[in-house]
Amino acid sequence: MAKLKWYKGNIHTHTTESDGDDTPERVVGWYRRHNYDFLVLSDHNHLTLLDYGSGRRRFKRPLMVPGEEVSANIKGGSVPIHINGIGISRVVEPIDADDVVATLQANVNAIIQAGGIASINHPNFRWAFDHEALMQVTGASLLEVYNGHPKTNIYGGPGKPSNDEIWDAVLTSGRPIFGVATDDSHRYHDWSPTQSNPGRGWVVVRAEELSVDAIVDGLATGSFYSSTGIALSELDTTTGSIELRIEDDGETVHWTTFTGKGGRTLLEVVGQDARYEIKSDEGYVRATVRASTGARAWTQPVFLGE
Ligand SMILES: [Zn+2]
Ligand SMILES: [Zn+2]
Repeated sequence: MAKLKWYKGNIHTHTTESDGDDTPERVVGWYRRHNYDFLVLSDHNHLTLLDYGSGRRRFKRPLMVPGEEVSANIKGGSVPIHINGIGISRVVEPIDADDVVATLQANVNAIIQAGGIASINHPNFRWAFDHEALMQVTGASLLEVYNGHPKTNIYGGPGKPSNDEIWDAVLTSGRPIFGVATDDSHRYHDWSPTQSNPGRGWVVVRAEELSVDAIVDGLATGSFYSSTGIALSELDTTTGSIELRIEDDGETVHWTTFTGKGGRTLLEVVGQDARYEIKSDEGYVRATVRASTGARAWTQPVFLGE
């Protein structure tokens, strides 16, 4: 078997082909200069294709993975239902259905029919939906546990669950879905915490090679971790244990929380190395790493049979 490598990418990116403020070429240039291995341009209801590796300026990276932010509404309403189609082979027209669940399901289905995998975006943007709806939807592979756009309410609000809590509730209901961190970048000129700038959230996929098929497959099967600034030098996930090592810069303090069914904390470990021995009654087990810098990382859940 070929040796597996880690590839960093952003899977939620806007350009002037929708409401981003720079051209696809220049946006890709930003990610190339910041050493991303792959990139999904996900303009609203538009398949922005850019063969960055051809023409006069040839670059191997980032590898461009076709994508679109399929942006629907509830019929006659303004509840935003946004789902990224990743690896699609054609543009997907958004479908507005009668309610949240039907709209989510119709667009997830349309993305799969177009050859892609579905990533559910920013549930808390305008408080559009939460786990109650997501528990009724089948076929989606990914859910944004982190979105870099400042208006997406990732930490929840009064009476509203955070993205982490939504993810745990969906996992607890028995729906396998993997958690992604994304930029949802729109602004490439005005840099401020109130602007949706690039470089805030990404995924690191473990794959045999840097190809569209290998990256999409790695995302679809949970062979990745998500990060807002923490790098893992080792991650070993089996049905018996989760073990990880955090890259050390000599000054940042890290701690890891292992979480199971119901969002229950199973174990907390301070330091660069963390390991959890799975017992079998946890439902699922996943790890979140936090850093004294404020950065976080999320590993994907291991699901346990009943
Ligand atoms: Zn959106
Ligand atoms: Zn977006």
